[in-house]
Amino acid sequence: MNIILLGPPGAGKGTQAKKLIELLAIPQISTGDMLRAAVAEKTPLGLEAKAFMEAGKLVPDGVVIGLVKERLAKPDCAPGFMLDGFPRTVGQAESLDAMLDSMSLTIDHVVLLEVDDEELVLRITGRRTCGACGAIYHLKYSPPPQPDTCSCGKKELVQRADDNEQTVRQRLATYHEQTAPLISYYEKRSLVRSVAGGGMGPNEVFELVKQKIGR
Ligand code: ADP
Ligand code: ZN
Repeated sequence: MNIILLGPPGAGKGTQAKKLIELLAIPQISTGDMLRAAVAEKTPLGLEAKAFMEAGKLVPDGVVIGLVKERLAKPDCAPGFMLDGFPRTVGQAESLDAMLDSMSLTIDHVVLLEVDDEELVLRITGRRTCGACGAIYHLKYSPPPQPDTCSCGKKELVQRADDNEQTVRQRLATYHEQTAPLISYYEKRSLVRSVAGGGMGPNEVFELVKQKIGR
């Protein structure tokens, strides 16, 4: 099964992606995670991407498309894959279509997670991630078992550099301008499965997602 997860920052793509890859036994391809890894390793690509990310802007299409192309060619994608955070522009969606065509693959579902902007700001500014294992928490809505400590035992809860309020507002503006047009792009092919993900927890959202993809 080949799936795209679409939705604004903070809608819960990363959280749902982790649940879905477990259920479906397919890899998660998160361009955000790949870019953050490149930034942390200070690769040339990471150095190019860093300023865009910290400003809440999109990294240029060419950079991201190259990353995804390499990743989709890896053998673990053969049983299917979950794209998280890509495509994010119509240009990226067109490139993806060309890539998939050349591999004789198609997208089965575009899962759209919808949440109001004000709830997104609250979610993102309270988000913390474990630097050791990648677990995601929220200071208020899903706090770690003990303050500042992950369930894996490490005291490495960190806030992403772009999770402050000002950058979040810019990321939302970027989403509405550049990414939201993808909804009608995929609606034309009847691929969009929308889930209203506001006001409920990750497990309730996951139940709705499973229903929408027939699992
Ligand atoms: P979020 O969805 O919460 O904003 P991500 O982890 O998906 O977070 O992305 C973080 C940042 O990485 C984005 O704000 C953007 O700068 C960059 N990025 C991630 N994916 C893409 C993409 N497909 N195209 C361009 N930039 C991207
Ligand atoms: Zn951890």
